[in-house]
Amino acid sequence: MKLVNQMKLTFQSRSVNEGFARGAISAFVATLDPTVEEISDIKTAVSEAVTNCIVHGYRDTIGQIHVTVKIFEDQLVRITVRDNGCGIEDVEQAMQPLFTTVHTGERSGLGFTVMESFMDKVKVRSVPGKGTTVTLDKRIAARED
Ligand code: ATP
Ligand code: MG
Repeated sequence: MKLVNQMKLTFQSRSVNEGFARGAISAFVATLDPTVEEISDIKTAVSEAVTNCIVHGYRDTIGQIHVTVKIFEDQLVRITVRDNGCGIEDVEQAMQPLFTTVHTGERSGLGFTVMESFMDKVKVRSVPGKGTTVTLDKRIAARED
């Protein structure tokens, strides 16, 4: 798989930065001339991944969130969102629809389900006490116009 372009971004786990990350990533992906729907799918998935770093990974603390966006040949976009937060004990369980560790009613446990439905592929690697990396893949369709 040939790498065509890439960028990296590091920002603090503050909720104001969620919109920044979404905007910056979509601006980078926009170089591929995606449809409105494709870009909106990516924004939605990125929002869920970044929000998880903020509310779960770092919880009441502030840490760094690292994002990379790689564009491979045939318009494959690979986004990684990484935190050095608390990590996830059981990734398979965490990815089940409606599973959440927050029981205040604020969260619905659908973040990973949303990422999976809007992207082609979602991979989660996590080490408890060390952090979590979510990899989101989506191929942008070639346009003929
Ligand atoms: P929602 O996304 O619907 O607001 P949620 O965040 O609880 O609710 P998911 O995004 O599907 O649901 O995440 C499921 C669970 O996985 C979380 O409740 C949390 O326990 C764990 N989790 C997800 N991302 C992280 C992360 N970056 N660090 C630590 N734990 C995480
Ligand atoms: Mg979530």
